[in-house]
Order: sequence, then C-alpha cells, then structure tokens
Amino acid sequence: MKFIPKTLIICILCFTSLYSYAQVTQVVAHRGYWDTPNNNQNSITALKRAQSIPVYGSEFDVNMTSDGVMIVSHGPKLETIADVQKASYKEVKKLRLKNGEKVPTLKEYLKQGKKGDIKLIFELKVHPAGEKENIAVKKSADMVKKMKLQDKVEFISFSLEACKQLAQLMPECRVQYLSGKIPPKELKEMGIMGLDYHYSQIQKNPQWIEEAHNLGMIVNVWTVNKPELIKEMIDLKVDFITTDAPELVLEMLK
Ligand code: MG
Repeated sequence: MKFIPKTLIICILCFTSLYSYAQVTQVVAHRGYWDTPNNNQNSITALKRAQSIPVYGSEFDVNMTSDGVMIVSHGPKLETIADVQKASYKEVKKLRLKNGEKVPTLKEYLKQGKKGDIKLIFELKVHPAGEKENIAVKKSADMVKKMKLQDKVEFISFSLEACKQLAQLMPECRVQYLSGKIPPKELKEMGIMGLDYHYSQIQKNPQWIEEAHNLGMIVNVWTVNKPELIKEMIDLKVDFITTDAPELVLEMLK
C-alpha cells in the first residue's frame, strides 16, 4: 500500500515540474495573429485569429484621432493618412485596410476581445505630453472600465508618464513599460509591474529577469520572430514572448 502512493507522488512531482517548465514562457501575438491569408495587422480578423490559437494574449496599438476617437492602428501613417493623431475620425472611417476591413475603433476591437479567452495587450501609443496624453490615458482607462474588461486588459506604452498614470488609474490591470532603459526596481517604485523590452535590452541585461521575478514583476520581450532568438528567450525564461510568429513559438515551447 505504501509503494503506490509514493510512486504516485513521484509521478505527480515529475509531471508538475515538466508542466511548469513547459509553461515558463507564454506567447503574445504582436498586432494580432495577422500573418495569415486575407488578414492585416491590428484588424479584427487578426484578433480573431489570435483568439483561435492557445496564446496568452494579443497585442494591439491604440491612437487617438484629432477629434478624440480612440482607434486601433499603429500609426503614425495609416494608408493615405500621414499622421492618424492629426486626422479626424471621419477621415479614418473612409479608409480600408489591405484586406478590405475598416479601421477598428477601440470600442469595436474590445467588443471582439471580450468574446475570447485571451488577454488583450493594449499598447497606448505616445501622444504629445500634457493635455493630449492625459486625455488619451483617461479615455483608455474609461473604456476598459465601461466594458468591464479589467481582468483581460494589460497596458503597455513607450510613454513612462502614460504607464505611471495607467498604473494609478487601473490598479487591477498590469502595466508594462516598453522603452527598455529602466531596471525593474526603478519601475516598481513607479508602480509599474512589468518590463516589455526589446530582446536586445534583455540580452544586455539578462540579470533583469531574475531581479524582476524577485520583485514579483514580469518580463515580456518584443518582437521575437527568428527560431534562434525564440530559443534564446525561452532558455532565459522570460515570461512572455511577443511575436509575429505565434504558432512557431507555441511549437517551440512544446
Ligand atoms: Mg505595438
């Protein structure tokens, strides 16, 4: 009788350690899973595709038009528009993406996001510091609250000020800073609980991974598409890999 439970315990421990090893790194689809037929970066189709594979989350870019409409687009250039932040929503609405879809508003995008199980990695693009940025931050936070998506949204931004404000306004949502220059401890002191850095910054400062983990923070890296780099980041045990090739990374994590 004693032998069976012991074997069982060993099996469970082996399984648990293998499982946790396999789960160390998770995948974030960069601008949705867009690299498929009839698709486009930051489109609803790209989000739907990301929702159809076992990724942790899908990243998308958010800009505010000159008349205050939050749209999902990388910018500044958008098709025939030179700078989306200087264009009105009326101008944006006329455009079609390469796959024929319209440019989603943030509301439309989050509506689709709500239907899936994956996290929504919300990149608020940099807006002019001061009033414009403050409005863009507030609109972002208000929309997520209104749609009751606090459990699904994580914010990322290259603007340190926007990250600080979002961390204060939305304590339920994890915020990650993108620029790659600030060590984990300093970010945590500002209330920012994640690093989402270009992989080269993590190659230069691999000790930041352990430092971040010891501080209860997470490490995400972008944009990792090549097999040798994917392997390097998995071996470094980053928490998330943001990639244009989500299925390749999922395969390499098996
Ligand atoms: Mg982005």
